[in-house]
Amino acid sequence: MKYLLVIAIVWVAFVIWRNGRRREVERAAPPPPPATPLPPQAMLRCAHCGLHLPASDALPGKDGKVYCSAAHRQADA
Ligand SMILES: [Zn+2]
Repeated sequence: MKYLLVIAIVWVAFVIWRNGRRREVERAAPPPPPATPLPPQAMLRCAHCGLHLPASDALPGKDGKVYCSAAHRQADA
């Protein structure tokens, strides 16, 4: 009975030690690399309403003017 108690204590100590090691390994894992930010985009001004919008969303018009929507391009023509 005495040996059973010693084995139980050693087993509990082993489990505690193993859990502590697992947490250390998880903590030591390198952090994920930061997400690379998107490159900045030029902002353009709508020639009709003055709204600023990304160059990729702008609609080209006459004389190098840009518009936020087809309706504004048509209204300015
Ligand atoms: Zn507009």
